[in-house]
Formats: sequence, structure tokens, C-alpha cells
Amino acid sequence: MLQTRTEPLKTIGSYWEASVPPQKQDRQLIGNAVFEVAVIGAGYAGLSAALKLAQSGISVCVLEAEHVGYGASGRNGGFCCLGGTTLDERQLIRKFGLEEARKFVAYQVAGINLVEQRLTEWQCDAGRHSQGEMYLAHRTKDMASLGAHATFLKENFGIKARLLSKEDLSAEGYGGPGFHGGLHLPYGFALNPMAYVQALSSEVRRAGGKIFGKSPVTGLTRDGDRWHLETEHGFVRARKVVLAGNGYTREDTPKWLHGRTLPVMSSIRVTRPLSDAELEAQGWTADTMSADTRILLHYFRLLPDRRFLFGTRGGIFENTPALAAMEKRTDADFKNMFPAWSEVETEYSWYGHVCLARNLTPFVGEVPGLKGVFAAMGWHGSGIAMASISGEKVAGLIMGKLEQSELPVPLQRPFARFPVPALRKLYLQGAYWWYGWKDR
Ligand SMILES: Cc1cc2nc3c(=O)[nH]c(=O)nc-3n(C[C@H](O)[C@H](O)[C@H](O)COP(=O)(O)OP(=O)(O)OC[C@H]3O[C@@H](n4cnc5c(N)ncnc54)[C@H](O)[C@@H]3O)c2cc1C
Repeated sequence: MLQTRTEPLKTIGSYWEASVPPQKQDRQLIGNAVFEVAVIGAGYAGLSAALKLAQSGISVCVLEAEHVGYGASGRNGGFCCLGGTTLDERQLIRKFGLEEARKFVAYQVAGINLVEQRLTEWQCDAGRHSQGEMYLAHRTKDMASLGAHATFLKENFGIKARLLSKEDLSAEGYGGPGFHGGLHLPYGFALNPMAYVQALSSEVRRAGGKIFGKSPVTGLTRDGDRWHLETEHGFVRARKVVLAGNGYTREDTPKWLHGRTLPVMSSIRVTRPLSDAELEAQGWTADTMSADTRILLHYFRLLPDRRFLFGTRGGIFENTPALAAMEKRTDADFKNMFPAWSEVETEYSWYGHVCLARNLTPFVGEVPGLKGVFAAMGWHGSGIAMASISGEKVAGLIMGKLEQSELPVPLQRPFARFPVPALRKLYLQGAYWWYGWKDR
């Protein structure tokens, strides 16, 4: 017998939470239920899978530990852009060959188009604005590599990127003492990530999918011809399961996941709205999604209400001293890069988990040895487009409408386990020190 209970939402203090109407609270699972498919995680990946399945008439539930968008899907920078791997296009070609690299990049573009198409179809504005993404050279010497990269992208992928000098940047409103030129990629747009994930969840409910909040899955075991998903106050039995917990995944659900993902932090701050005079003082008036050329990059954009969003990558440990150090570093970097705004108040700051994998690419497919259990995760910090399209693809695999071999090869490889998993954060820390030194 299935009962439900509504629990208060756990907030994280983000600007996105404050900028959308109070969200629907999905009831907690109390009791037992049977579904054809159970999805773990109510972010873009899990909800996209559930939406496709529900629209195809399949009974599906989403089990979420907290609430829709509690994970990175409600906390990110809102850059709906290319990405999903830490391998650049040259490395992709070296590893997978030109044809597969092209397929993979085309898949990323298709992900962006899917998000755009959804928002249009659903008549959901989601604070959408601007076109493309700007990479800003943080050293003069990086201009040569940006130029070479533009030529490489054109020759191998037909991507028409535009190179901008420092003077072009100033003329187009990308002012800052540390920006020495830029490369504009024509793909992607900015959005309010929480508005998008909420719209996605509404579509899931409208299509007949069931979402349970406050229902962390604590165990996944085989039970006859079904999987048994244990939660605090009940369980679900389902023939197929989708793992979509990404950087919030429990390592023991299922045990196969142990040591195969590496959650790291990304943090964001949002200022109060800036006046015309303040924007002019910095010379920054562009609203394009922007990032610098550091390996441990900063990402930033002017929001429609003229607040400035500034994000950093790099936090590894989630304890009080490490979080304080991340905050201090972010503050110093912001003041350094946008000196005219060094006294401008920050009104919101928060952080969230992104999911890295040893393979450096995501995994979308059936988990080896666990028949009927599928995974869609590992977006390496760029998941709005990737998780959205991959959720749909995993639904296609479940329904037998798509073969694993039809996906780009970089997505087909199950995550490898990190050697000595207990130490994985420590050796990433070592790598980050090295990247920090290279970024100087
Ligand atoms: C600060 C920050 C900035 C970012 N900026 C960008 C950006 O600008 N552009 C971009 O493309 N990407 C960005 N990303 C990455 C992007 O947000 C993620 O890749 C994407 O949201 C992942 O979606 P997902 O559905 O796979 O996972 P998530 O949105 O993280 O959702 C996973 C959900 O699973 C739930 N869960 C996990 N385990 C269980 C369990 N056992 N039982 C029940 N529920 C469970 C969690 O509670 C969570 O809600 C950013 C990430 C962060 C943290």
C-alpha cells in the first residue's frame, strides 16, 4: 500500500532558488510501489529519461533524495553549452579518431538544440539570453593557441569560431585588465537552470511520470525478475533502473559505482544588480557566457537583471577549512579579474558537485554485470545540454529504440575504477596544484 508525505524543502541559498516561484514539493515515498522503470535522481538526466519514458506510455518513477533540482541541475551557472568531457577536441581525435570525435561534438550540439527546442515547445522563457560562448585569454601568449584552435575547429569540425583582439574585447564590452583577447564559439545560450529543471519536472508529471522527493535510495538489489530499490520509508520494485545521481551519487547504490566517480566542487557567487556607472567603470557590458583560458577556469556572465555571476572550479574537499579556502580564493580571483567591482556586495554564494570520471568522458549505457540497470552520468562540469540529451538516449536504450553502438564511442565506455579509490581526491589535489602552476 503506497502512502506519501510532504516534507519541507532543503534550501542551499542560491540566487536561482530566490529567482523562481516556490517549487512544487513532491511527496515522499512511504510504502511500496511497482513501476516498470525507476530513476534515481531528479536532475536533467533523470528527469529527461523519465519524460521520454512517460511520454511513451511506460510507468516510471523518479526517486530523489531531496527535491527536483537539489543537485547540480538547480545550482549551476546556466551555461547551456558544449562540453561534458575534460578532453579537448585534439585529445578526442587522438583517442577515438576523427569520425567519432565529430559524432561526439555533433551530439553536444544536439544537446543544446534539444534544450532550446524544449523551452520553445513548453513556452518556458527560463531567463534565456545571448548566443554562444566567449573564451578569454588570461595571458597574451594564449592568443596564439586560441588562433590555432579556431583554425583547427574550422578544419576538423566546421565550427566557425571568431577571434577577438584586446581592442575588439573592449569595443564589445568585455573589459578587464586580465583579458588579452578572446575566441567566440557560436554554440549555446544562457538560462536560469532552476527554471529549466522545474519546467522539465512539470512535463514529467504532466506525462504521467511520478516523482518522489525526500526519498534517497539506500540499496539496490535483485529481487526475482525485478530490481528492489530501498528507501527510508518504503521500496520500489522495477524491471529497469536508471542511475542519474551524477556528483551526488551514493557509492554503494549499486556497489558497482564504488570508486568509479570523483565528485568535485564548483562554486558560484552573484552580486547585487550593478548600475550603468559600475558596468562602465569595469568596461563589462556584454551578457555572453564567458570563461577564461585557465585549466582551473573561471566562468562568468552578466545576468538579465544586471547582477554578475562569477564561478570557479577547483574545490575538492567538502570540509569547513577547505570550503573557507575555496571562498577566499574565489573572492581574491573576482577582485583581481574585476577590480572595479571589488567593493560590490555579493548577495548569493553557494557551491555544488560536478562529477568527474577516470575515463574523462561520460557514461551512457547498461552497467556491466547488472542487467536492466543503466547509467547516465559523468558530465565533467558541463551537463545542461549533455545530461538532457543523454537522459533521452538512455530512455531510448531502455525501450530498445536505440542500440548502445549507435551512441558516440566516447559515451559507450563504462567508468573505470580509480586505482586506490580512497586516495583519489588526494591525487586530484596534486593535479590541481600542477594546473594552478601551469595557469600562471
Ligand atoms: C556550481 C556548478 C556550476 C555549474 N555550471 C554549469 C554550467 O554553467 N553549464 C553546464 O552545462 N553545467 C554546469 N554544471 C554542471 C551541471 O550542473 C551538471 O552536470 C548537471 O546538472 C548534472 O545533471 P544530472 O541530472 O546528471 O545530476 P544532478 O543535477 O546533480 O542531479 C542528481 C540528483 O540525484 C540525486 N541523488 C543522488 N543519489 C541519490 C540516491 N541514492 N537516491 C535518490 N536521489 C539521489 C541528488 O539528490 C540530485 O538531486 C555546474 C555544476 C555546478 C555544481
